[in-house]
Amino acid sequence: MPATPAWPPQSTPRLYVAERLTQGAMLRLDGGAAHYLVQVMRTRPGDPVKLFDDQTGEWLGIAREVQKRGLTLEITDHLRPRESVPDFWLVMAPIKKGRIDWMVEKACELGVARVVPVLTRRTVVDKLKHDRLAAQAVEAAEQCDRTALPQIADPVKLSALLKDWPEERTLFFADETGGAPAAKAMGERPGPAAVLIGPEGGFDADERAAIRAVPQAVGISLGPRILRADTAAAAATSLWMAAAGDW
Ligand code: SAM
Repeated sequence: MPATPAWPPQSTPRLYVAERLTQGAMLRLDGGAAHYLVQVMRTRPGDPVKLFDDQTGEWLGIAREVQKRGLTLEITDHLRPRESVPDFWLVMAPIKKGRIDWMVEKACELGVARVVPVLTRRTVVDKLKHDRLAAQAVEAAEQCDRTALPQIADPVKLSALLKDWPEERTLFFADETGGAPAAKAMGERPGPAAVLIGPEGGFDADERAAIRAVPQAVGISLGPRILRADTAAAAATSLWMAAAGDW
């Protein structure tokens, strides 16, 4: 049955799959995805499942065979192409485990294209589990209807990040010691951008000077209060999405 406004139903489960999807393909799912569909969502033969592959967009799959530990879906309809997300990076010093998971989830929901963990002098967390953050991003994308996954970059030292900063990209530096009003500064500089958020302990004076020495850097203020790093990241990202993104 072709896709219509009422089909597939709103409650249709939605999953990311790593393999490229094509019309008419038979997709075998086992492991966690099968457990979720069969045991949690009670998928039965004939039931729809929405799938996206971060390459070709979103597809409709119909369950053809369902067993306790696996199922086969027939790919029947191309629902929509892969979206183009705004060209925006969230560059932030890693924070404690629970909070960085939250941050990656929010970054995905808000429309961030790339998350870049940056190691600074006062960074307390330097061991990041890339797979866990990538899994967090997938889960958030499944939830928020994204068809393009945010890229999770490998951690980079602040000095290396600044040395190779791309010429065409504005670097909005969230500086709690003062800067231009964020929304205004972001609205005045459309185009590829990034926001830089410091660790809980903030940047030290040398780091601040090195950041401001980058020609593309623009110091921004997120108001008179000291925000926690994850709050600052969510606030700055939201301001950019509203001022220069796809909101
Ligand atoms: N160093 C600060 C302190 O403890 O006094 C706090 C750092 S704050 C918890 C973490 C990061 O959030 C900062 O490095 C900055 O990037 C951002 N941030 C927090 N409040 C901000 C504000 N009002 N304006 C701009 N950036 C802010």
